[in-house]
Parts: sequence; C-alpha cells; structure tokens
Amino acid sequence: MKTFVGTFVLLVLVGAMPASAQSPETILVNGKILTVDAQSSVREALAIRGGRITALGTSAEMRKLAGPQSRVIDLGGRTVIPGLIDSHLHAIRAALSFTTEVNWIGVRTLEEALGRVKDAARTMKPGSWLIVAGGWNPQQFKENRRPTQAELVAVAPENPVYIQLGYAWAMLTPLAHKTLGLTSEADLPAGGRFERDAAGNLTGAITGSQPAIVGLFDKLPRPTFDEQVQGTKAFFRELNRLGITGVIDPSGNNMTGESYQALFKVWRDQALTVRVAYSLGTQGSGKEFDEIKATTALLPMGLGDEMLRFNGIGERITGGMYNNDKPGQADKDEYYRIALWAAERGLTLTQHWNRDASVDNLLTIFERVNQRIPIAPLRWSIAHLNDASEQTLRRMKALGVGWTVQDAMYFGGEAFRESVGEASARRTPPVVTAKKIGVAAGAGTDAHRVASYNPFTALQWFLDGKTVSGVALRGPEETPDRAEALRLYTIGSAWFAHDDDVRGSLEVGKLADLAILSQDYMSVPVDRLGATESLLTMVGGKMVYAAAPFK
Ligand SMILES: [Zn+2]
Repeated sequence: MKTFVGTFVLLVLVGAMPASAQSPETILVNGKILTVDAQSSVREALAIRGGRITALGTSAEMRKLAGPQSRVIDLGGRTVIPGLIDSHLHAIRAALSFTTEVNWIGVRTLEEALGRVKDAARTMKPGSWLIVAGGWNPQQFKENRRPTQAELVAVAPENPVYIQLGYAWAMLTPLAHKTLGLTSEADLPAGGRFERDAAGNLTGAITGSQPAIVGLFDKLPRPTFDEQVQGTKAFFRELNRLGITGVIDPSGNNMTGESYQALFKVWRDQALTVRVAYSLGTQGSGKEFDEIKATTALLPMGLGDEMLRFNGIGERITGGMYNNDKPGQADKDEYYRIALWAAERGLTLTQHWNRDASVDNLLTIFERVNQRIPIAPLRWSIAHLNDASEQTLRRMKALGVGWTVQDAMYFGGEAFRESVGEASARRTPPVVTAKKIGVAAGAGTDAHRVASYNPFTALQWFLDGKTVSGVALRGPEETPDRAEALRLYTIGSAWFAHDDDVRGSLEVGKLADLAILSQDYMSVPVDRLGATESLLTMVGGKMVYAAAPFK
C-alpha cells in the first residue's frame, strides 16, 4: 500500500512538474564559445544543469530551453573557453605561502619589484620574513639585472629578506643571514657557497646546487596552518582569475605529507575552486622505494572525487634518475623495480626529464616494463624534455606515454640557445611534430619557483616563441596555431588526469568548467594575448570568480 501511494504521488508530481525543474540552471547566450570539440566548433550559446553542459547551439535555441528559474547570462559577444588546465603546476606548494610571500610574477621593472618588497614590509607583521620564492627572472625587468643586497636593505631595513632565483641563487639581507645563523659557509646546506663579486667581496647572495638551495629554503619559517589554508584558497582564486579550473600537481622539492594538509582541509570544507589531480614524489632520500610504498599504501590509483584525485607517482621517483644524464646500472635497476611495481598497481607515473640526449635511459626502462605490463592505459608521461627528438616522440607514441610541455623557454630561452645552438632552439619544444606523430600532449608552466603560473603568458609564448625579453627563438614549423595551443591547455592537459572524457572541452555531458575572457583569444594581437584575464570563471557550473560586468 505504502509503495503504491509512493508511486502514485511520484507519478502525479512528475506529471505536474513545472518546466523549471527540468530547465537549465544557467544559460550563456550571445557569445563566441570555443568548444575545443573534435572540429574546434564555435557556438553562440550553451546551457548548464547539474554542473554539466546540457546543450549547445544558437542563442535562440538556448533561450527556448529557459524556465522561470534559469539564470541567463548575456555574453555580449565575448569569447568563452573551456577552463584551462595546467598539466604541470606545483600548485599545492605555491598555494601554501601565497598570502605570506611577496610575488614578482609578471612585474616589468626591478623598481616595481623592490616596491612590492617595500609594501610588504609595511603591511605584514613587523619583522616578518619577506620571501620571494621564485617565478621571476632578471630579463623580465627593464633594468635586466638582479637586486643587490643594499637595495633590499633600503626598502626593508627592519625585515629579514630572502629572494630566490630559480634553484641556483638566493639573495639574503644581513638580517636574514643573522636570523638563520649563517656566519660562514660551514653553516650552509652542502653545496652552498657565499657569492663574491669580481673584486672578491661578498654580495650577500648564496649560490649552489639545487639541493643546496632547496635546503636553504627549508630553513625559512613556514606559514602557520591557518595561513596555509588562506594561501590555498587565495591562490586558487588567483588561478580562477586567469581562467584556470584544473591543475595537475607533480609534487616537488620541499614537499612532505604535512604540505598536503591545507589542501585537504579546503577540499573537506568544499571550498576548492580548482580541480586538483596530484601525484606523490619522493625527496631523493636514497630509500625512495620505501618512501613511495609508505605514502601510497592506502591510496589506490584514482581515489578521490571530481575536485581532488590521487593521480599516481612522480615527478621525481628516485634521486638517481633525477637531473642525472648519466645514471649508473644500479640507478636504472632501482628505477625499473619501482616502475614495474607502479605498473602492477595500475599507477600513473610522471617523470621529470630535461634532455633528449639522455632520455634513452628512461625510455628503455619504460619499454622493459611495457613488455611485462602494457603501460598505455596507465597514461605515463614525461615532463619538460624541451628538445625531444622525433625518434624519442615516436618511442613515446609507441608506448602511449604522454608529454607535458611548459614555457620554460620564456625565461630560459637565451641561455638554452647558447647551450644547444640556433637550429635546436628553433624547434624547441617540438609540439607540432608531437601532434603529427600523435603523442598525447598537455600544456603548462611548472610554476611557481621556476616560472609564472599565468597561462596566458604561456599561451602567448606558444604562439610567438618569444622570451620574456622579446627575443623570438622558435620557428613557424614548431609553432601551433591558436586553436591547437588552446587544445593543449584544455583537453590536452585533461588527458593526464584521465579526465579528457569529462572535461577539457565544452560538449554536452561534460563538466561546465569554463571562462569568459576579457578579450577574444582568437583575434587579439599575439603580443597582447598575455594580458588576457577571465571575467567569469565557472567550475562545475558554479561561479568561482567574477569581475565586472559579471560581478
Ligand atoms: Zn620538473
């Protein structure tokens, strides 16, 4: 009886259900929607319901779907893109200190950069550490040089100041040296040295190997947990402001289990505004297999939800196969053991590798594993590898191994050209060849220590190949067109999170992750593309960022 009544009531309700219950929650009309579907179609309007795209078409067609509850957003002719996805962004780490660090990303003069340190000295608690942790390069400044110690003391005499450049140099003020107790080189992490100028005088900077600078950074005070949570929310909103709705995080230096807790809290609070797929790496302890087994023991591949998902291991698996162009047999055997174990567990693996000349060491191991367990379904990938040869790309294609490509040459192009020559620099990175061969490729930045996180800076660089100082290095033969560059930054990157079937393009049934842009991506002059921002960003149909006129 109960069942009968229940069914009866349900039938009546369905029959009487107002159109609004079935109609879209949100409709975007009168725009230029770059769908990034297989044909790169452009549509005028789309409809969203339950966080997903339910229809695309003309404005008139979409308006017909509207019910009384539907929110209709008039795009006024503006361009909409799928939310951008950075396939290699150290976002979890960058986020922790986003509100407690000073940021020089995109600043065009050293004077302005010093001004930001000065402002921070005023606005942060007295005596706070003022830290620029990277993401800048002297060539971005009109002055084309690094700050001196005296300049930093002048703008922040009462604060310890720490300015890191990439992973090879950090300038500290005398107060910073004193606070850290760095009185002689013996106090520095192994491999660190005090820099001297041509006359032999100390400059105040510390130089050295990457581990030395990583060790130095580890001596700095950490933001409190609350600051880390605030930083995480603020950084993800900042990414939303730039149209980013997803990141693939490759772990990184200085990352421990504790480094993930702020992210997990924001996720638990349902306050994540960027979808995060994260892999777990190692810190090169010499016991990496134990490290990886311990951190992943209770993490099956893919555990998580649409906002946060465990995405396997990398970008550093072992110390012996990290930034080492001549790994020994023992290094390779150890890596093989871990890679085979990862394949057996169905884990995705991403590996940082710089130079094509030595990547055979890695690919040979992948091929060995592949003979035991096909790795193509696991979507393994190589990050960086800017000078990938055609032969390497063919081997990757045969294995089903993907390639995450970053705009490293935006900062490092001139130095790279000096080391490899004009002809090699012209084809770096060879994204057109990769597409021809059919290698899965995604775009990104590698921010924030070694690069800016701004995806439009990276997109501009994909299209013009120009370094931050304006020198064009790449030739047209390896320059993607605008649609292709956008594809790399959306559905191309989604592949690496095993998500290209649910996001990365604006198609019926896919998640409504999108950005309404401040200028038309397809027609704005290339040299202005980098100034693009989002005016409205949605993740799963929810507004996560809005500026005028949508605010
Ligand atoms: Zn890397």
